[in-house]
Amino acid sequence: MKFATAFLLAAPAVAFAPGATLPRSSSLQMSSEASTESKAFAKLPASVKPGVVTGTALVDLLNHAKKVGFAIPGVNVVGSNSINSCIEAAKKYGGPIMVTFSKGGGQFIAGKAADNTDDAASIAGCVAAAKHVREVAALYDVPVILHTDHCQKAWLPWMDGLLAANQEYYKTHGVPLFSSHMLDLSEEPLEENIAICKEYMEKFAAIDILLEFELGVTGGEEDGVDNTDIDSARLYTQPEEVFYAYEQLSQVPNAAFTCAASFGNVHGVYAPGNVELKPVILHKTQEYISEKLGGDDKKPMNFVFHGGSGSSVEDIQYAIEAGVIKMNIDTDTQWAFWDGIRGYEEKYHDYLQAQIGNPEGDDKPNKKYYDPRMALRAGEEAMAVRLCQAAEDLKCVDVLN
Ligand SMILES: [Zn+2]
Repeated sequence: MKFATAFLLAAPAVAFAPGATLPRSSSLQMSSEASTESKAFAKLPASVKPGVVTGTALVDLLNHAKKVGFAIPGVNVVGSNSINSCIEAAKKYGGPIMVTFSKGGGQFIAGKAADNTDDAASIAGCVAAAKHVREVAALYDVPVILHTDHCQKAWLPWMDGLLAANQEYYKTHGVPLFSSHMLDLSEEPLEENIAICKEYMEKFAAIDILLEFELGVTGGEEDGVDNTDIDSARLYTQPEEVFYAYEQLSQVPNAAFTCAASFGNVHGVYAPGNVELKPVILHKTQEYISEKLGGDDKKPMNFVFHGGSGSSVEDIQYAIEAGVIKMNIDTDTQWAFWDGIRGYEEKYHDYLQAQIGNPEGDDKPNKKYYDPRMALRAGEEAMAVRLCQAAEDLKCVDVLN
């Protein structure tokens, strides 16, 4: 596999020195810069091609985003409509997109009536949707990252099911089914959180999957996890904790990871004044890790931003300057999708009250108005418009060519 080869070629010492901490990003940057591969996207590293991006290409893409200063929208989806909105938006704004499945979203995709014993439906729904994305993504000529959202300790059987699907896919295709997975053990003590992450990092790294881990707690409520009453001190991650995680995970050969650090971010949208976002924490953390490593890299960590809905553009862009390469968007796109359907119903209300009969005549059929594709398409379009706005906030517009 190219991923492992590039690493070994660039840093042969690591293969013979288990436990050596070498930030893999430096070796991977060398691998892409030295490449003579023809480029699919003029402004992106040569390794990044249209369709689902994994392994070296994913690390190259995220490092590039950090260097150039943009973040990729990471969007929760619940079916083919929201998936298509995401990729349609990416094509429109001219940038990459991260399509994200939650455990509940996966179950919804499988169907709420499906047997979810041992997370069977949550696993099957995510796997089926990932395969859908793999089939259609390349048709849009944009890079797509396939990701899963928060997975707490009690939900690890869901992750084990996804891991098995990745291993199976890797056997046949030489790449994992998903690009990356998130583990959120932030409710556990730091050592336990990182120990479990390291265990999974080893399994992920063997098949080129990137790990997103969480330190501190994202406030608010999402997908049935309620952190609205959490002690506010836990909403802010300490630089020492991030460095500890960085050091531990870097010990895994072929490791690639991003960190969801807490800087006052909250899931959901609340009245102004409820959230005190402190992106300066991310800047201070990069400084701290950079000093500890003693290297030239001033931003060694790739950060991701959860609970970004409702944040000011200033705060978002200040966070991007600190090395945020992805921002999650869920609440705002949920509203946009619904608002598109609401607007459709409002516009065609009098055509949607019975199968036959509208203002044009009592015998006029309404089939073309109540065809579910009409309302769902209105939702798709509104969600894509909202995502184009998000991409602007994230400086992710026209970053491909
Ligand atoms: Zn989150």
